[in-house]
This record gives sequence, structure tokens and C-alpha cells, in this order.
Amino acid sequence: MSEGVWEAPGRVNLIGEHTDYNDGLVMPFALSRTVVATAARRDDGILRLHSADAPGAPGGQGTPGGPVELRVDALAPGRGPRGWTDYPAGVLWALREAGHRVGGADLHYESTLPAGAGLSSSAALEVVTALAVTELYGVELGRREMALICRRAENAYAGAPTGIMDQTASACCAEGHALYLDTRDLSRRQIPFDPAAHGLALLLIDTGVKHAHSTGAYGERRAGCESAAAALGLGSLREIPQEELPGALTRLTDPVQRALTRHVVTENGRVERVRAALEAGRARAIGPLLTEGHASLRDDFAVSCPELDLAVRAALAAGALGARMTGGGFGGSAIALVEASARERVAGSVERAFAEASFRRPEIFAAAPAAGARRLS
Ligand code: ADP
Ligand code: MG
Repeated sequence: MSEGVWEAPGRVNLIGEHTDYNDGLVMPFALSRTVVATAARRDDGILRLHSADAPGAPGGQGTPGGPVELRVDALAPGRGPRGWTDYPAGVLWALREAGHRVGGADLHYESTLPAGAGLSSSAALEVVTALAVTELYGVELGRREMALICRRAENAYAGAPTGIMDQTASACCAEGHALYLDTRDLSRRQIPFDPAAHGLALLLIDTGVKHAHSTGAYGERRAGCESAAAALGLGSLREIPQEELPGALTRLTDPVQRALTRHVVTENGRVERVRAALEAGRARAIGPLLTEGHASLRDDFAVSCPELDLAVRAALAAGALGARMTGGGFGGSAIALVEASARERVAGSVERAFAEASFRRPEIFAAAPAAGARRLS
């Protein structure tokens, strides 16, 4: 008995990297690649989860995995990771913790979003679950609350310490727009961003690599930012206005804290400048800001890697208007803003550069800002 079909997208962050855990600004947009959930209510208190694309499913990596059945009233976090079902189970748990009356359900997932590629499949999985289950149970939930519930599932239940950007992007993005999100107060604004309408294309270059130290490095950067803010007597690095950056830098004695601070503050500035350019209809003007953001992530925040640097360098050498790594770093994807007419040429150049460096062949496709989570039928 099927009661409906919902989908939630992955996202690419246009600008605003490593700012979301510093109370800062981000600007992601949704991809047309999504996790689709076919869902039905159950009255026996069982949550039955099945994914055609689970890491353990036939055809995926790991041991074959059939459907998983869990008792909704026995869901509890903190017993260590149990696999992909933590994300949807965590959503049910977090919804109930927040007092929402949701119960058993059958959920079957199909995905066109690669998992672990930095495109936020985990948030898409959470958001599609939250949307499906709340609608099945007639629970009214705003998109902002939905994102918060999903983040709680990811942090407290799945044990992944992520910010609020991914879930908000999946829940709140709109087609043809990037989402300007202030992670301090969660205020948000839709910013027109439609590369094709300007004769442009935004290439997504998936390097296919994920360097092993990425999780540890994320925690280190996060802790480094917190200690820099503490050394300045601030609650977060967001509290440093652009014009006060030089003063803040002279007050920091630790070179690592200085570099982290410089990235976070200038990155918040770049988000504002990208927003202003897009709102003024000047899409090409964001190119240099993207490239500047890459240099800052590479040199100050030190989260790039040879594959990402090469993707950016090769794209720029082939005429891209701007390019940068996107996501947490140490692998994953880069983006490049190119004239639509130069799309094949830039993609070909990046592929050749990767071949010459004996790197894995990257996956390159044009990403058009797509809709946020929604019901399909
Ligand atoms: P990202 O969010 O960047 O894709 P994460 O490591 O945060 O990377 O999340 C990936 C994890 O999310 C996978 O290992 C898996 O547990 C889960 N996941 C994502 N998509 C699916 C899916 N379609 N089916 C089952 N699990 C999925
Ligand atoms: Mg994720």
C-alpha cells in the first residue's frame, strides 16, 4: 500500500565554505539529483527501511542488505553507528523527541545522488524522510524546523557533527536560485542564480577521491576556529566585521588561528559580494570571487588537496570565469563557472590534466539550481 512519493535533493555550495560552524554565511543550491522515498503509514509501530542504493545493498559495497525493521518506540541514539539506517531512524527519533506524533512507516528509497561525494546525500536522505513521515501523519512542520530536526538526527543519532547548511539546502532551496543562509539566526533569502539564463554553465567536477584524514581535519579546523574566537574574547568568528579583520589578526599570536580567522572572515565577505553580484544580475562577476575563495581554502584553511587544486587550475587555464573546491575538502568536488559555449572545452581540459597527473578520471556534469524537497505524487 503506497501512500505517496517524495524527493529531496543534494546540494552544492556555491560559496561560504567552513563558515556554517562559525555562525557565518553560506550559499548552497540544490541539485536535480535527489533521494526519492516511496512511503506508506503502518499502524504496528514498525519502521521498515529499504534502500536500493544502500552501501550494503546488492550492487553496492559491503554486505548485501535487505529491508531493516525497527520498533519506532525503541529508537535511541548513542549506541554507535549502525549504518545508513541511522539517518532515517534518527529523523523519526528526533521528530518524536520534539513532540511530533509520528509512528510506523514503510520507506523505500531510490537515489540518483552519489553517496559520500560531498553532495550531501545524508541530508537528502534525512529531509526526504522527514517530509514523507510528517505528511503521512498530518504533522505540520515548517522547513526551518524540518532542517533542525534533520540536523539533530545527523548529529545526535548518526553521530556526524555537521552544521545546518546541508539540511536547510535540501529542505529550502528553490529552482533557479541559490539560498543565502545566515547560520547565526537561520534567516534565509532566495538569490536568483540561473547560469543558463546568462549563457553560462556551472560545472561540477567530482574528483572521486576522499582522503582519509578528512574527518579528523574537519574536527581540528572546527576546534581551531573556536579557540581563535575564544582568544579574541568572542562567541564566534562571525562577530568580526570585515573592517576589523586586520585588528583581530594582530591580536592573534598563533599563526594557525590567524589563518583560520582570515579565511572565515573573508569568506563571509565573499558570500555577501556573490549575493550582491547575483542580485544585480551580474552572474559573471562571481567568477573571481569563487577563485579567491579557493585560494583562501587552500592557503589559509588548508583543506584542499592535489586533485582539487588541479581541477581548479586546469579549469581556469581553459578559460573558466572562476573555480573553487566545494564542500569540506580533501577530495569531493570542485565547481567551475564557464561560458556555456566553453563547457566541453573546459571539461576536456580538466579530464586531460587529470589523466596526465595519473589521477582518477573525474566525473564532470553541469549543475542547474533545482527545487528543494517536495512531494511528487
Ligand atoms: P554525503 O552526505 O556527502 O553524501 P555522508 O558521509 O555525509 O556523505 O553521507 C553518506 C552516507 O549516507 C552513506 O554512507 C549512507 O550511510 C547514507 N546514504 C546516502 N544516500 C543513501 C541512500 N540512497 N541509501 C542509503 N543510504 C544512503
Ligand atoms: Mg553528509
